[in-house]
Amino acid sequence: MENFWQYSYLFAAVTIILSIKWLNSPATARRGVLAGEIGMLFAVAGTLVHFDVLTVWQIWVAFLIGTAIGVPLAYLMPMTAVPQLTALSHAFGTFAAGLVGAAEYYKDLNNPPTGFTMVALAVEVLLGFLTFTASIMAFGKLQELVPTRPVTYKGQNFVNLSLLVFAIVLGVWLCVAPAPFWVFPTFIGMALIFGVLLIIPIGGGDMPTVIALLNSYAGMSAAAMGFALDNKMLIIAGALNAASGFILSVIMCKAMNRSFTNVLFGAFGQVQASTAAQAQHRPVHSATAEDAAEILASARKVIIVPGYGMAVAQAQHKVRELSDQLTKRGVDVQFAIHPVAGRMPGHMNVLLAEADIPYDRLHEMEEINGEFSEADVALVIGANDVVNPAARTDTNSPIYGMPILDVDKAHTVMVIKRSMNPGFAGIDNELYYMDHTLMLFGDAKSFVGEIVKELPALVHA
Ligand code: NAP
Repeated sequence: MENFWQYSYLFAAVTIILSIKWLNSPATARRGVLAGEIGMLFAVAGTLVHFDVLTVWQIWVAFLIGTAIGVPLAYLMPMTAVPQLTALSHAFGTFAAGLVGAAEYYKDLNNPPTGFTMVALAVEVLLGFLTFTASIMAFGKLQELVPTRPVTYKGQNFVNLSLLVFAIVLGVWLCVAPAPFWVFPTFIGMALIFGVLLIIPIGGGDMPTVIALLNSYAGMSAAAMGFALDNKMLIIAGALNAASGFILSVIMCKAMNRSFTNVLFGAFGQVQASTAAQAQHRPVHSATAEDAAEILASARKVIIVPGYGMAVAQAQHKVRELSDQLTKRGVDVQFAIHPVAGRMPGHMNVLLAEADIPYDRLHEMEEINGEFSEADVALVIGANDVVNPAARTDTNSPIYGMPILDVDKAHTVMVIKRSMNPGFAGIDNELYYMDHTLMLFGDAKSFVGEIVKELPALVHA
């Protein structure tokens, strides 16, 4: 029993590493979630039996409060609000890390931490508190509780940088010499203010990428806490969190053809307001559900491209019905997933998996792009920016250079959306005006439902 906590930490570390590996593929993702949950259970159990924990009743109270907040949140927030939920959970986690750091510092005022422990504590407190306010701001922007547009002013980067440097100087002071009483609270205050200032110049649209980056800061704070408390589990889990958050934000930036500095200082969200009004009044070819059903039924190969609109409409189950009916008719149906389709990484994979669409039908962009030229139909369901050919051809476009799904290379393109309104980037889409594109105007769920209803009446091709 004495060594139980050490074995449980070891087991937890291994399962959490495996969990991240399994989360890499849709086929093993469920196993990955389960492994992560089991790992966390062992980490918590190990901590509870650790000799440091003298009484557990405070832990139970905290556990009950956390559960009372966390469980309703998970149920109340819809799938499309997962970025907000992630921001809130980072805020809670990093606030806890910051408080643990502060408690550790004030534990014995006559004998404050020194040396390496103090360095780790300073890193933990700085990253913990700044990520706390930054995450709250990110939540506010995504939930539109604070202005989503980037708030910028002259000399902003200078102010932000000066504040950070001041905080770091205080942190160094705490580490190298006994500091007066006011230094530690001021250090915390600087971190809290810096978190707010970090987020205000960033547009609401860039928040999902910023949240991945905040995830990385939260991980670093937890790892630093692990060093301060000499807790190996925290070091391992924090380091994994930090690395995976960073890698995810790099992947998202690449998929949007944006640099980190562009996300952090680029004020990209402004583009939406200025160009949204420019939706062009050019003629398009529109079609009915009956027309669409006929074309689909006579196709040999159909590639379905889901996007944010499918998530908003919750059309994934209807899409599954459509795919099943077409497959029964001998049509080869595949799905093309863009890495930033929707509003969070893996958004489309999660929705399509929820509707039990077989994983082997889901293809990543690089894998399927070559197949569009052989497809009879590319059926775009609520996607817009990720299929905009301007990213390939228009050097003036804000999304120029972003890798896209080459749906325009299919024989016929059908696009389900409600209007000619733009998507996330706020720009018009040349695809809609092409001769081989048919616009299917309507809500994704209802329109796909109508196509599904039309199909049985059609004679097998
Ligand atoms: P999008 O460009 O935002 O377009 C979504 C389209 O869905 C809109 O044009 C909208 O047109 C349509 N729509 C909305 N509600 C609908 C409904 N109920 N039924 C049918 N259509 C509906 O989406 P996307 O192509 O998936 O691209 C994602 C964008 O988000 C990219 O610009 C990406 O860079 C950005 N982004 C993604 C992430 C991520 O992690 N996935 C993170 C940050 C940013 P109507 O209004 O006319 O219906």
